[in-house]
Amino acid sequence: MQSDIFHQGHEQVSFYSDPTVGLKSIIAIHSTTLGPSAGGVRMYDYPNEQAALTDVLRLSKTMSYKAAITGIPWGGGKGVIIGAPSIKSKELFQSYGKFVDSLNGKYITTTDVGTTEFDIGTISEVTEYTVGKPVSLGGCGDMGDMTAYGVARGMEACAVYLWGSNSLRDKTIAIQGVGKVGTALVKWLVNTYQADVIVADIDPNAIRTIKTKFPSIKTVPYDRILSVKCDILAPCALGGIIHKNIIPQLKCKVIAGSANNQLDSYVDGLMLFEKGILFAPDFVINAGGLIDAYIETQGYNYKRALAKTTEIKETLLRLLVQSQESKSPPFICAEAEARKLLKESV
Ligand code: NAD
Repeated sequence: MQSDIFHQGHEQVSFYSDPTVGLKSIIAIHSTTLGPSAGGVRMYDYPNEQAALTDVLRLSKTMSYKAAITGIPWGGGKGVIIGAPSIKSKELFQSYGKFVDSLNGKYITTTDVGTTEFDIGTISEVTEYTVGKPVSLGGCGDMGDMTAYGVARGMEACAVYLWGSNSLRDKTIAIQGVGKVGTALVKWLVNTYQADVIVADIDPNAIRTIKTKFPSIKTVPYDRILSVKCDILAPCALGGIIHKNIIPQLKCKVIAGSANNQLDSYVDGLMLFEKGILFAPDFVINAGGLIDAYIETQGYNYKRALAKTTEIKETLLRLLVQSQESKSPPFICAEAEARKLLKESV
């Protein structure tokens, strides 16, 4: 199996299978330097096991950076369940919960692509190491809304930096993926910011639902959203979507969305910078969900979560100024700062 598994600095990578319930899962713990590792569990029909491993390694490392730069005393971890959400069952999630429990608190699990707060509720029946539970179980509920709020605040930072104003009114914002975060982002952008919104999703049901809720928004086919003319492109689906083939087709001024690991590679980030497209580092702008989850562990308080998430704007603005002064892309400034914070705390 080809992998740079031993070169990304992970503390532990565990594999678990339970054929009785159809579970194949990997949990990667990148770092517990700042605290127990935390991150969502992604349920996805990966083309092969190597793809799942690559994803969980990258995602868990990003979680370390996200917690560090956000000032949350957690490390970085992530889980994947290999399989489409159509194979979900109570037994499958309970089995995954036992896997989480076997790590004795070194990894705290929550939602990600393909999983919901209700799945976390099921997992919480067998392990205490969960966050993002339903409100009825004392949790913060779906974290998509807080994530979307943070993304909107991050967009404000980009607007101040580029256009000298907080306002997103009349800005055209294209959103790829209207799942948990994308849907909430449409709500914030339409209701609070009066922005012009264009969306796309591979799932026609997701498009029907969002159009019913927000009839004023426009839609385009999912294979056109990245090249649509807009002020801000908000990737809110999967990672790796910014690559050398798509960059020449981009017609946006800013990329600011929730998807983790939007850049396919480091070089793609440099290409964006050279092209003059402002890329808001994803692990900075999408930290609202992590904040929401952390506040849950202290007895959930929406106002506290909102106040901490509002800080994303200041963090991003600071990084944008730093980027301008150092002539280095914001994602490089953000990664350097996160690595420094992790190193200093050893
Ligand atoms: P989700 O599974 O609820 O929604 C993802 C949506 O994207 C789905 O509607 C799916 O059909 C759509 N999609 C997938 N591929 C697509 C494509 N090629 N084009 C258009 N649409 C496509 O996931 P989510 O929780 O909303 O998370 C979205 C992204 O944000 C993920 O990358 C996730 O890791 C990241 N993120 C989520 C949170 C959170 O609080 N949920 C927090 C931080 C980061």
